[in-house]
Parts: sequence; structure tokens; C-alpha cells
Amino acid sequence: MIIKNATVYTSDFEATKTDITIDGEIISALGKADGDGEDFSGCNVLPGFIDIHIHGCNMADTTDGNADSVAKMSKWLATKGITSFCPTTMTLPEDFLEECFGYAADTMGKEEGAYIQGINMEGPFISHAKKGAQAAAHIVSPDYDMLCRLNAICPVRLVDIAPEADGAFEFIEKAKNICTVSVAHTAADYKTGMKAFELGAKHATHLYNAMNCLTSREAGMVGAVMDSDNVMAEIICDGIHICPATLRITFGILGEDRTVVISDSLMAAGMPDGEYMLGGQKVYKKTDARLADGTLAGSVTNLFDEFHNILSYGIPFRQALKSVTINPAKAIGVDKTTGTIEVGKYADLLITSEDFKEIKAVFIKGKRVV
Ligand SMILES: [Zn+2]
Repeated sequence: MIIKNATVYTSDFEATKTDITIDGEIISALGKADGDGEDFSGCNVLPGFIDIHIHGCNMADTTDGNADSVAKMSKWLATKGITSFCPTTMTLPEDFLEECFGYAADTMGKEEGAYIQGINMEGPFISHAKKGAQAAAHIVSPDYDMLCRLNAICPVRLVDIAPEADGAFEFIEKAKNICTVSVAHTAADYKTGMKAFELGAKHATHLYNAMNCLTSREAGMVGAVMDSDNVMAEIICDGIHICPATLRITFGILGEDRTVVISDSLMAAGMPDGEYMLGGQKVYKKTDARLADGTLAGSVTNLFDEFHNILSYGIPFRQALKSVTINPAKAIGVDKTTGTIEVGKYADLLITSEDFKEIKAVFIKGKRVV
């Protein structure tokens, strides 16, 4: 298969005129190619987008207890140009998490759309004080053995931790050998945050949300993230969780290699306004999604819309594109196989109209799915 005559954003994230030759699942050559192919004149080819924090969409949720939910998510995500993702669990009892991990594992390798990169485990090792929309009853202290048991069912790519919790520091030192460790749903101060990063945590879950912010007299967890060059930060860019001005300032401070756009979406994404479920709790969707008490509960957006949001807020194009492709790939350690358009990587491609607004085609591991 050859993709011809398009403008391609290759590994330097600059526009290049080149053909893309695909051999099976892999990009085998860039540059002028002989032979027949599909003409994509006037189109842009971007690396497929990667959502590493998504609970649900399309009426399905990673932890709704249905065997086909992750498959439903996979299909819908492909229509939005997302080519791989981390189904994300909530704060729930271990036996139920085991069931949900099992369903994700069963789906892996059989996806009809975006493929599964492994689980993002958001909870249950979080703080009561900053639980957000997570269920307080199921919060437990960091438990490395539990992580190992669940990881044996379906690989964990990211695990969340409140670094002030009992045993958190020991947990970080061991868990970092299994997956990326992220600070999340935490009441930790700057000093405790810095200690977590020193011990090997290198990621922050939905920056600003469910953590102490940067203020004049206490830099907080947000300050600790900004002050640590090796830490990447997830950012929800629906324009509601973080206002556009704060987004613009934050992208500027973190620079183009540390910003990771996530959806944090729930099953109501892609669905009409109404009542939905999230981790056993009722959620009301109406432009955003909230619990009955008004707490923001995940989002109803997707990476493609967020990419356009941040461009409209004035984030530079290169940073916006890296934040939905190579940066999430690096954050979960899959940048050797995806995240850029490069020879030897999977042909995970999003082809758009000239103004980037319309999705013209999506290729996942070399197969055209849209
Ligand atoms: Zn979440």
C-alpha cells in the first residue's frame, strides 16, 4: 500500500511532501514511491492520536462490567483518529477490577479499531481528600502485590498514586519497574511531590485537577510537576477542566516535550445529553459531565476535538501535535512502535483535510479502518 501526494508530518513534526509505503502493519519507506497507491492530494497525514487516559465512550466504559465494552470503545475511537489507547479503570474493589482487566485482556489483539496499549490504573491508591469522582469506599493504601496480580491479567501501562499515602514511597520504587508511576488524586505538598519524582514517579495525572495548585506561598503538586524536567503531565483540553488561558500558560511553561493531552472521557462521550454511569455512580451529561453534587466527573470530549481546541487557544501547532502523538507514546513507553511517522513503526495514521478539520482516512497497523 502506498499513500501518495499528501503533506506528511514526519518525525520532526514539520510538513513534508512524501509518499508513505506500508508493508503489512509497518511503514517500510518514506520518499517518492513507484507503483500504484491511493492519491491523497491536498490532505495531511498525521501520526495516529494516542489517548492514554480514557474511561469510556460510545456508551461503554472500561469498568462497566460488560465483556464487550473495550471493543466498543476501540471502534468509536478509530472514527476520531485515535489509533491506540489505554482503557482506564476507576477506584473499585480488586475482584471487580480483576473482572474488568480480564475483559480488556480478552479484547487485546481482536480490536476492530484503536488497539489497546495496556491499562491505565487510576485508583484505588489515591487520597480521600482529593478523590474527585472516585468512590471513597474503595480507596486502599498503595499495594504493590495487588498491582502485580492485576498486571498479570492485563499489562498495566500507568498506575496512579497519592504520594502522601502510607507506603507510597516504597510502592513507587518497586512499581516503576512494571509501568509508569503517576501522581494523582493527591493532597501532597510540593516537598512530597518532589520526593515522589526523585524516587521514580515521572508522570502527573490530569494536572490541576484533584491536586494542590501553585500559589504564592506553596508551590503545591502543580509546582512540583513544573519544577521537574523529567515529569510529563496529562492535561484535559476540553476547555472546561482547565480554562483556555491557563492551558496556554501551562503549555508554555512545560514546553513541547512534556505535555500529554488526554480525554479522561466517560461513556457519555459521543452520546446525547442525559444520565450515564461512571464507576457505579450516576453522571449527568450536559455540555460537560457531573455527579449529582456538581463534581466534574471525567469529560465528554475526545483527542481530535481537544487538538482543535488547543490550536484555537493559541498553542503552537508542533506542540499541539506532539501532545496527542509522540508525547503520550513516550509517557507509557511505546514510542519505539508508534507516535511518529517513521520507517519501522506501525502505520498508525490519521489523514485529514487540508485545514485539519475533517477526517478523511484512518489507518491502524497498516489497515484502513475509516
Ligand atoms: Zn480519569
